[in-house]
Amino acid sequence: MLDIPNDIDHLRAVDNAHHLHPFTDHKSLHEGRVRVITRAEGVWIWDGDGQRLLDGMAGLWCVNAGYSQPTLVEAAARQMATLPYYNCFFSSTTPAVAALSERLARMSPAGLNHVFYASSGSEAVDSALRIARQFWKLQGKPEKRIIVSREYGYHGSTIAGASVSGMTDMHKQAGDLPDFHQVMTPYTWRDAGDLSPEEFGLKAAQSLEAYIQQVGADKIAAFIGEPIQGAGGVIIPPDSYWPEIQRICRAHDILLIADEVICGYGRLGAMFGSDVYGIQPDLMTTAKGITSGYVPLSALFVGDRVAETFIEQGGEFYHGFTYSGHPVACAVALANLDVIDSQNLVGAAERQGATLLAGLRDALGDHPLVSEIRGRGLMIALELAEDKAGHKPYASSRKVGLTCRNFATEEGLVMRACRDTMVLAPPLVISDEEVGLVVERAARAIDRTWGQIKAG
Ligand SMILES: *Cc1c(COP(=O)(O)O)cnc(C)c1O
Repeated sequence: MLDIPNDIDHLRAVDNAHHLHPFTDHKSLHEGRVRVITRAEGVWIWDGDGQRLLDGMAGLWCVNAGYSQPTLVEAAARQMATLPYYNCFFSSTTPAVAALSERLARMSPAGLNHVFYASSGSEAVDSALRIARQFWKLQGKPEKRIIVSREYGYHGSTIAGASVSGMTDMHKQAGDLPDFHQVMTPYTWRDAGDLSPEEFGLKAAQSLEAYIQQVGADKIAAFIGEPIQGAGGVIIPPDSYWPEIQRICRAHDILLIADEVICGYGRLGAMFGSDVYGIQPDLMTTAKGITSGYVPLSALFVGDRVAETFIEQGGEFYHGFTYSGHPVACAVALANLDVIDSQNLVGAAERQGATLLAGLRDALGDHPLVSEIRGRGLMIALELAEDKAGHKPYASSRKVGLTCRNFATEEGLVMRACRDTMVLAPPLVISDEEVGLVVERAARAIDRTWGQIKAG
């Protein structure tokens, strides 16, 4: 056995000395105390101090099958022993990647029959953008370059990812590539005003059409959006939104990219978000839940029109990664898809999502701090607001969401704060009893947050 030291104080010290963390305020991390996570089982994680936490975020929305699925571990070990690595450059393939491609094509929405692989959601998004622009070049329309996305979208953290994402601070820091533009998002709770949800969904979608009319469809390559926005705060569109986006993209011949890095593989109580909303994307990015996070893998689905253009026209497309189609990752994905099927995790997401939503509404529907509780499958959000009826959040300097998140951790629940929107997205294997614990602990965290606010 490889010996990784287990003296927690020592690990904390060397981490502090040598590890630059992702998405972190480095100064405050260094002033505080890093949590060392040492093991996990089912929906539970343990830290080095011995505290057991219910992981209400499935890691980063990815551990859909939970932390202890032996068949994923066995698939990795078997593949590592047989062929730990080979690439798919230079006319090669491997059994795992070929078999996974066939399986993914079979389960994907209609018209998506080819798959391109990478290791992360960011790389899948970057690949989708490159393929979209190259597609239009192959069509003799090299001017079609602009990528349209939405406020509060999250599409990864490379320079292209930050440019296409609509998280304001991140975009300002790094998102300065040309030929990217953002339109409105259907954030009903915040922005619908007097409109009905259906009217508001149309209005938000039509912000895309207004932009197209302003710059011209001959300049625009693609529109990208998450079926339900994740990191932006579980923003769920009204039912009128996606059909209108689909109509606009078709009418103006703009490629539609569904970023399903979170929605894909069951979380919404359907295999894909595109299935939920009847979206027929030209490109569809997936990652996270494809291996339940056990190893890194992303799969970009390429629609027939785009794939056939590349295949018919030929000419090298200079794009790929050393780990595109990594055999170990593909073997784990195949085992993970077996678990999703055999344990009916898609049905579980629908059922437990409904139970959790009902439980939260029961416990917190009348709470003075909670303005809305919304969800679809196991993607759930609670809006904490200063003006509950007027849908007005607290000043961001009050850090209400962060306070609530910290109380939740003390209560033994991992919950995430996107601004003051509290988010829950637990593993799909969560039991009835564990759903009950999430409700209890979330309610205590919100009560304590309210207590602190009242105390001034
Ligand atoms: C997480 C995420 C990404 C980025 O994936 P990484 O694996 O972190 O690069 C892209 N799009 C969406 C919708 C995501 O949630």
